[in-house]
Amino acid sequence: MLFSDLGLSKKVTETIEEVGYTEPTPIQAAAIPEILKARDVLGIAQTGTGKTASFTLPLLTKLETGRARARMPRSLILCPTRELAAQVFENFEKYGKRQKLSVALLIGGVAFKDQERILDRGADVLIATPGRMMDHFERGKLMLTRVEYFVIDEADRMLDMGFIPDIERISKLIPFTRQTLLFSATMPKEIEVLAEKFLQNPVRVEVARAATTANTITQKVVYAPSGHKEKRQCLRDILGGSEVKNAIIFANRKKDVEIIFKSLAVHKFSVGGLHGDMAQSARMEVLANFKNGKLLLLVASDVAARGLDIPNVSHVINYDMPMQPEDYVHRIGRTGRAGRSGTAISMVTFDDIRQLKAIEKVTEQPIEWQGEAPSEDDFEASSKIRGRAGRPSRNNAHRGPDRYKLGADSRKPANRKSGKTEKAERPARPARQERPARTENADVAKPAQPEPKAPTNETAKPKASAKKHDKDIIAFGAHDHIPDFLLRSSGLTK
Ligand code: AMP
Repeated sequence: MLFSDLGLSKKVTETIEEVGYTEPTPIQAAAIPEILKARDVLGIAQTGTGKTASFTLPLLTKLETGRARARMPRSLILCPTRELAAQVFENFEKYGKRQKLSVALLIGGVAFKDQERILDRGADVLIATPGRMMDHFERGKLMLTRVEYFVIDEADRMLDMGFIPDIERISKLIPFTRQTLLFSATMPKEIEVLAEKFLQNPVRVEVARAATTANTITQKVVYAPSGHKEKRQCLRDILGGSEVKNAIIFANRKKDVEIIFKSLAVHKFSVGGLHGDMAQSARMEVLANFKNGKLLLLVASDVAARGLDIPNVSHVINYDMPMQPEDYVHRIGRTGRAGRSGTAISMVTFDDIRQLKAIEKVTEQPIEWQGEAPSEDDFEASSKIRGRAGRPSRNNAHRGPDRYKLGADSRKPANRKSGKTEKAERPARPARQERPARTENADVAKPAQPEPKAPTNETAKPKASAKKHDKDIIAFGAHDHIPDFLLRSSGLTK
């Protein structure tokens, strides 16, 4: 099938040709004609499948005719995170360059004034996180009575983040006659209910089973120690493997993202960190630096990294096993994109064995152990542990492969300076950051915040020479103090 068979406008088809896409992806081939026929669509697809273009292209076609009125957008696209919203915005810019449409992006961490100006002029497309959108609405800067197209992207993530009540409220403000498109990677019961409520006689478009992992990804598990220091050593061993060109390292908690980031920085890796408590400008900057190769490692939380389209990531490393098996699928989907090969390595501690089993059940795929595997006893003992999977139990912090036990001979990673003890890695505690108002999972309505200060040049612009102080470590918040010794040249070098 060709793009020219889908019924898209001439302008959109020409742009697609220019962008270099030769044929539509399955979700595009299935969804675009239905959207153009004005049908509501329930799209079950992960990011990486071409999902964004599947709604962006037909919307651009439809919006070619008609005009936006001041403060009354013609279409509304809700995304769970700022990064995803910014990514959808970039898609509209890329595919819509032949149209003269006005596209507004309402996300937290960006000044109200600029966004209001665009809304005042009249926006054809409004892309927003639910919280920031409600802020604008409540300030009387926005009316939703002329919204013709309503898109809910990553609905399952919205559910995880507690946005469903916001979405229900927002949907009541939009005329019933709208066309609604709802996309989700997975279809938990709550989303089925939501879809029934919001969509009218929808076409269901499903491209792959939600828990399917791409076959371009080689998956491995490493039996890791539970102790924090030993686990970080284990991570460095994995990174020492010569085939790691660049990697996203996932941790479950924001605090751990910071600790791992700082630890790797001390060990001279080229690393940035990404989590939801960072100022928006710092988040964008870290992402840009990882995308363009200035940073080779990105330590991230799920919320900050969900759905990001970063081509060419050679490795995904699960420092922590994700709490939900579906999150495993999303995380490892950051590598092996667009037909490229990639590797996912998960660090499984004694307490995580049960969680690993749950993941293998969902993906219907046993994952190969790299190096030492847990013993039969470990398997049995771990599966008897009660409580939430992934939570370390107090009395077995020593568990895991012997080489990581205190006093044992640990394998020396390729880039680890001899004589450096784990103690030396602990950086001086940075001055307490002025926390941005929003927490990781709370892009919900809150009073306006002053625009965060942009990171200083010092943290934003890495220098090429390894001898000079390495500036490729990006501060977590605009006001974070990074001690000088953290700003040295990296281990996983360019
Ligand atoms: P998404 O699922 O929207 O995150 O898209 C994943 C990636 O696929 C993005 O980098 C898109 O630019 C790319 N993409 C989308 N549609 C096509 C297509 N028809 N052919 C090739 N690449 C595409």
